This record gives sequence, structure tokens and C-alpha cells, in this order.
Amino acid sequence: RVVVGTRVDQNHVNWVTAYNMLTGIRFTVSRTNAKLDRPLTEADFNARHKFSFDITGNELTPSAKYDFKFKDYAPWVFRHLRAKFKLDPADYLMSLTSKYILSELGSPGKSGSFFYFSRDYKYIIKTIHHAEHKFLRKILKEYYAHVEENPNTLLSQFYGLHRVKMPYGRKIHFVVMNNLFPPHRDIHQTFDLKGSTVGRDFKEEDLEKNPRATLKDLNWLRRGLYLEFGAEKRRIFFEQMEKDVHLLQRLKIMDYSMLVGIHDLQKGNQENLRDKTLRVFQPGGDSPTDDVDRAPDGRGMLMRTPSKLENARKARELRQIIKQEKPIPMGQSSSRMPDHLEENTTKRDFTFYSDDGGFRATHEDNSPGDQIFFLSIIDCLTHYGTVKKLEHFFKGLHYDKKLISPISPEPYGDRFIEFIEGITKSPEEAVREAQNAVPS
Ligand code: ATP
Ligand code: CA
Ligand code: CA
Repeated sequence: RVVVGTRVDQNHVNWVTAYNMLTGIRFTVSRTNAKLDRPLTEADFNARHKFSFDITGNELTPSAKYDFKFKDYAPWVFRHLRAKFKLDPADYLMSLTSKYILSELGSPGKSGSFFYFSRDYKYIIKTIHHAEHKFLRKILKEYYAHVEENPNTLLSQFYGLHRVKMPYGRKIHFVVMNNLFPPHRDIHQTFDLKGSTVGRDFKEEDLEKNPRATLKDLNWLRRGLYLEFGAEKRRIFFEQMEKDVHLLQRLKIMDYSMLVGIHDLQKGNQENLRDKTLRVFQPGGDSPTDDVDRAPDGRGMLMRTPSKLENARKARELRQIIKQEKPIPMGQSSSRMPDHLEENTTKRDFTFYSDDGGFRATHEDNSPGDQIFFLSIIDCLTHYGTVKKLEHFFKGLHYDKKLISPISPEPYGDRFIEFIEGITKSPEEAVREAQNAVPS
């Protein structure tokens, strides 16, 4: 799996797709933002607008380099969401300008999603599966209400939902969201935590090849790490996390993770910017299928062992079922960075992003600690119903239902909260605990 962010330039296989995505975003966002603001209506949540772009242009759309169709979903809702997240409209458009294009983190990973960074690394475009797209539209109202009530939510911030279609091409749905990690700081370690241990291990040997890989629950536990917050920050963090997870439980969402980036202030920013393209994540690291086709040492999961071939075929079909969309093949191109990356200052007003884009560690006495944590609950568009299809699918193969059943949203959320709370301790507490654990 390739983990290097590649610059999408004209030689890149996904150049046209990326170019059209940005052209569509720019057109639709400017179109909506050009109008006088007004309160949202019921109809805004279901709104969708279709545009046809071509080389000549017409009275509605300007001329574009390529022919394509673009659909914009709930533009007013997202305009208001962007305002709630304090994005400056001009800045948003600048970042997503098609002139400079993006870096792609092609993801021939499990989910088949592709990730593109805006050129300044502030935003991420993630292609999503049709089921996720439909689901986001369905829950948009609840999501909006939640953001309204919880400006400091830890949930992924969604800024736009769109669809692009090229002639003879398939429909590509995508969201624009925040890049949790700051453009101007090195992230020394990244974890994707679910609160489960089954299949939640990044092979430590592979870290040599890929020192910036996103690690998982077992790697975290093995390192004896903690989210180091004193009582006050811990309370603030827990309160918000619990509210967020309760929403996800109510909406029957599962399979989300707490994405944790750690900036170590002692180490500072050693790596040069170019290397940033290398620290980027490994998208598609995990999915409900993880536990199924990657059960370590054959533990759990299968009652009868199907042949390797059968397994491979099933796994493939399974991915098709949950993902439907095939990944676009990766292209090769050089990875270049813009010369200058700035801090995203709009984030300062938000509790968890207020310490230079993150949430700084604290000691028991509330004095500042040595790390900045970047925290967000990501990948929260997997509805339980979709995952259930997986279960149904396996029935035909005589697997033991109990062993492959996905854990339902209620216990998933409870386990998630319990895990995150269990790994949050002030440095002093962590030390005391370690001393108590080892009787002298
Ligand atoms: P799967 O369903 O297989 O888990 P996916 O394609 O849905 O994968 P995500 O889980 O959303 O992908 O993200 C994969 C990885 O991408 C994360 O572990 C993280 O490293 C990175 N990532 C995702 N969202 C963000 C974000 N908002 N900011 C920074 N990094 C992100
Ligand atoms: Ca995930
Ligand atoms: Ca996913």
C-alpha cells in the first residue's frame, strides 16, 4: 500500500477528476455564498442542484476545461456549517482553488475511499461510498443540530457534500472536511483507536518501512501511552466525547475511531516540510471487514475454514457489497509541497483546537505538559444497517453468526467511551498507577 501523498498534476491519472471536483466546489460555493444570508428552512436539508459543465459554458455555468456533471447537496446547510466552524468563505475558496490542485493519498485500502488534501493541507476531500452519502443526507439535520448545540464537537467537521460525474464515468460522491493535523507542525505519532483489540494491531516490523504509519489500539497499549490531561481538561474532553458518542449511538453509527495525533514539543519541528507528505496517514486502514479477514492467527471469526481462494473471493465480493465503488487506480507523480504552510488560525476559538491547532497536555496541577494532542472522532458515516449486510452475506457460508456479528452501535459506543477514558490520565496519575502495579 502506497502511503506517499502525490501531487496531482496534469500527468496524474486522477487529474481530471480532481480538477473537476475543485471546479465544481468553487462554482457552487461561490454561487451560494454570493447570496445574502438567510435562516435555514426545512427544504434546505433535502436540496440538491445539478450543473452541467462543458467547454463552451452556458448561462448557468462558466466554461470549464472538461465536460462533467456536478451535483451540490444542501448548499445552504453547508454554508451555515462552514460559518459555525468559522471558516472564512474566501479562504475556503482559495484553499480549494483548482490552479494549485491537491495532493492525493490514493487509497487502494479497504474502503476504497480516496483522500485528497487541499494544497495548503487545511482540507481533506474524501470520496465516499454511495451508502455513506445517502446516510449523511439522512442524518444531516441531526448533525447540524448537534454542531449548533456543541460548537466544540469532536466529530469530523463536514464542509460540503458533492457528486461529480464525467462522461461515461461512474458517479463519485465526496465530502470536504477538516484536516485534523496542522499544516505547520510535525505529528510525531498517529493512532486510530476504536476501543477494540481484535485485529487492531499495526505490525511493528512494518514501522521501519513506514515510520509515520497510523497505529492502532494494540500499538497504543503496548507503548503504555496516555492522553495526558489533568482533571480539568479531562472533564471537558469526556463531557464532549460522551455527547458526541451518544449522538452516534442514537443514529446507529458504528466503526468510527478516535484519531489521535501527537506533537511532541521536545522534539519540535525537525522534519522539513517535504517529509510531511510522508507522515500522512494510511487511509482505509480498517473497517468492519478488518476483524473478519484479518483475525490474527486464525483466532475467533471462522467456524469452518474456507479455502484460501474462497476466502479471497468472498473478501473481494464483500468489499464490493459494502463499498460498491471501485477505487480509481493510483497514479504516479512527483510529490511537491507548496513553499509555505500556515497555521489555521480560525481553529483557535475551538476548545480542542485552541493550542496551536490541538489540545495541549496538562499536569495534575493544570500546568502545561509536553505534548499537543490532535483529537477527532472520524469515519462516522457507517450505519449499522450497512454492516448488517455483511453478516447476512456470511450466513450463506455457514460461519458462526455470533463470531462474525458486528457489535451493535450501543455497545460499540460504550466500549469506545470506556477505552478512551481508560487511556486518559494525568502524567502523575500514570506514574502512580505504574508504581502500584509493580509491588516492590
Ligand atoms: P476504513 O473504512 O477502511 O476504516 P476509510 O477509507 O473510511 O477506511 P478513514 O477511517 O476515514 O478511512 O480514515 C483513514 C485514515 O485517514 C485515518 O486512520 C487517518 O489516519 C486519516 N484521516 C481520516 N480523516 C482524517 C482527518 N479528518 N484528518 C486527518 N487525517 C484523517
Ligand atoms: Ca476507519
Ligand atoms: Ca470507513
